[in-house]
Amino acid sequence: MTRTGFYPGSFDPVTYGHLDIIARAARIVDKLVLGIGVHHGKQAMLSAAQRIKLLDQVTRPIVEHTRVKIEIVTFDDLAVNAARRAHAGLIIRGLRDASDFDYEVQMGQMNGAMAPDIETVFLAASPATRMIASSLVKQIARMGGDVTLFIPKEALALVNVALAETR
Ligand code: ADP
Repeated sequence: MTRTGFYPGSFDPVTYGHLDIIARAARIVDKLVLGIGVHHGKQAMLSAAQRIKLLDQVTRPIVEHTRVKIEIVTFDDLAVNAARRAHAGLIIRGLRDASDFDYEVQMGQMNGAMAPDIETVFLAASPATRMIASSLVKQIARMGGDVTLFIPKEALALVNVALAETR
């Protein structure tokens, strides 16, 4: 039986924190579906098409190294519905700190109430990447800071293009 996990997020842009969670989730599932949330009213720096291509590029080494199957989808509805469409029995979430814990556990419980057949699995962020947040990466990049420590070079290239377009 194929064990499928669904990892939802904005991935705007994908960071080394997300990649850490993806690589570790790849050890507990056979197939990992990455769900890019494209909810209306949520202004993203990168388009859905850019985020799909980027996730595909940067997860290739994980696929080669682990033989996990990775699929990338977008969704604009409830994560539990998107997880169902992906035939996932697990929702994967990362926990960085206490505020992630409070929010994620509450959301996991509400998702569990709506979809008792889908289990949320929390992976604690690794020490080297737990401080990384996409929102802060964008703020730092907008102010001219160097974000090469936080995001893959493919993501950096797209962030630079997006920033150049807004200047
Ligand atoms: P962000 O919060 O950085 O904008 P997302 O909304 O894409 O990122 O988050 C998707 C999921 O990834 C959430 O479960 C979030 O806690 C997790 N996540 C984000 N950054 C990290 C990180 N540095 N380490 C571990 N998990 C992370």
